[in-house]
Amino acid sequence: MLEIIKNQRSEYYIVNNKDASVCERFAASELEKYLYLSTNCPLPIYSDKCDKYGKEIIIGRARGNKKDERLNNLSDEAFIIKEVGDDLIIDGNSPRAILYAVYRFLEDYIHFRCFASDCETYKEVDDIVFKNEIIFDFKFEYREVYFTDAFTSCFASKNMLNSNLADLGEREGGKNKWFNFHHSFSDIVSPKEYFDTHPEYFSYIDGHRVKEHTELCLSNEDVFKLAVEKVKEWKRNHMDCHIFSVAQDEWMGHFIKMACECDKCKALDDKEEAQSASIINFVSKVAREVNKEYPDVLIHTFAYQYSRKPPKTLIPDKNVIVRLCNIECSWSRSIEEEYRMNPKSRGGLFYDDFMKWSKITNRLYIWDYAVNFRNYLLPFPNLRSMTKNIEFYKKNNVKGLLMQGNFSHGGGGYLDKLKAYIAARFMRYDNLVLEDEVMEFCKAYYGKKAAKAVFDFIFLFEDAVKGYDLWLYDDSDHPMFTDKLEEQAANLLNKAYIETEAKYRFRLGELSLNLAYLNLTRLDMDVKDRNEMIDDFSEAVKAHHITELFERTKLEYSIDVMKKSQYAKKRDNWQSLYYIMQ
Ligand SMILES: [Zn+2]
Repeated sequence: MLEIIKNQRSEYYIVNNKDASVCERFAASELEKYLYLSTNCPLPIYSDKCDKYGKEIIIGRARGNKKDERLNNLSDEAFIIKEVGDDLIIDGNSPRAILYAVYRFLEDYIHFRCFASDCETYKEVDDIVFKNEIIFDFKFEYREVYFTDAFTSCFASKNMLNSNLADLGEREGGKNKWFNFHHSFSDIVSPKEYFDTHPEYFSYIDGHRVKEHTELCLSNEDVFKLAVEKVKEWKRNHMDCHIFSVAQDEWMGHFIKMACECDKCKALDDKEEAQSASIINFVSKVAREVNKEYPDVLIHTFAYQYSRKPPKTLIPDKNVIVRLCNIECSWSRSIEEEYRMNPKSRGGLFYDDFMKWSKITNRLYIWDYAVNFRNYLLPFPNLRSMTKNIEFYKKNNVKGLLMQGNFSHGGGGYLDKLKAYIAARFMRYDNLVLEDEVMEFCKAYYGKKAAKAVFDFIFLFEDAVKGYDLWLYDDSDHPMFTDKLEEQAANLLNKAYIETEAKYRFRLGELSLNLAYLNLTRLDMDVKDRNEMIDDFSEAVKAHHITELFERTKLEYSIDVMKKSQYAKKRDNWQSLYYIMQ
């Protein structure tokens, strides 16, 4: 036990190594900043070049502090918080781990929380008494919450996301940096460049080589050589990355044939009873070849749509990341619940594939989803299924998780900030109680007086979806949406709005856009002033800086669709704003 602060006074100094990295120095200043805010007691920071003036909180390896042996077999993000004599040691396997350790200390001792980039809280206390040693490591080596607000360094770092897309620099200890984050076959061998001279590089389907919307012939030796050269070129130009994507392109893999069916590709896929076989064979060979020159390189590929089913006997190379996408699932139940209810349902079949992948790969990552992409604002009550699935992934050997929400430039989307916070929290900690976490968020984000009504609003929809399916592309004619549900939801939001303090009302206004969208898209076409109401809604959307209502779609187009059709269904001449996910 260490009495670090007593009655707002302290004998402690915070100390860095004189050669500490930018990130370790930032960790020290974050500790000082939040302890000061919480206790009104400023702890001086100095380097270990100074003599020891008193008791110390040692950040990283300063004062000759050696690495604790218990960190040896843990990841480079593992950390320890312990006492040695009168000193407190906050150390980790990397500068980023040390910064995470500081945030963990603040979470435990002043109840520090970063709920969103514009909402963080801590308790005001008079005493800090260190009691329990902590050694911590993450179950997921890659943690990414793909929501606009979660890309800020403030949110990502404090919620311990090592996210590829987040704005995490040297100060935050860097991140899990990828090159070419997703689909990449056409970047490796472009049909525009090669098809006319080498049609044999591309998918052979129904008697001919395909040029448009194609994949690669993965048994072709030249394609293999081009892929190896391309990955090496990427690596040479991006030495700070260690994950490179060699992954199928995204066309219409659910509906039309994509994989090459030339004799050689087909023979392997038939033998392995899965079209993922050619892909796994190919990327494993690429990984082994590239690793001869760059041993730290990992090759990422997808198990998605036509490649979701794992091969029967082939095993991915140890340096291949297989990212399995669960886009076919229903989000009203967890994957396990779906399987137990009906093993032959879409979710049940996904469960089967998942379990097989989890046995054959040591780097299984998951691409999961947490918003309705066709209608970003439409209530998409998946908090229960999302958190159960995160636990399920942890139990079953998953090493990385991306939770994709609305990541458009303006953000927004149903409960996007809450979902980003909950996803990040469940990714790093076990045994959390969803309802407690949501209530804590509601109190901080919407004000204590509104918290109960907002909590009830959130769980009203979570309860309403029970017994139904919930897909990523549902419209507001989903059977869970009824006039009665809308009325109950509106009453709760009104209650919250009246009861809370004025400073929280803008946030409640954003929450009410979800209900307004539901209401307006369900209105009959002949309701008086329907268009005017949609115009008012459009102004409110803009006041909250939301840029998209439908995924990758111009805002004006979406408003026009709402006016033209009930449930926003008439989407003629839709154009995709395909911006970069890197
Ligand atoms: Zn082929």
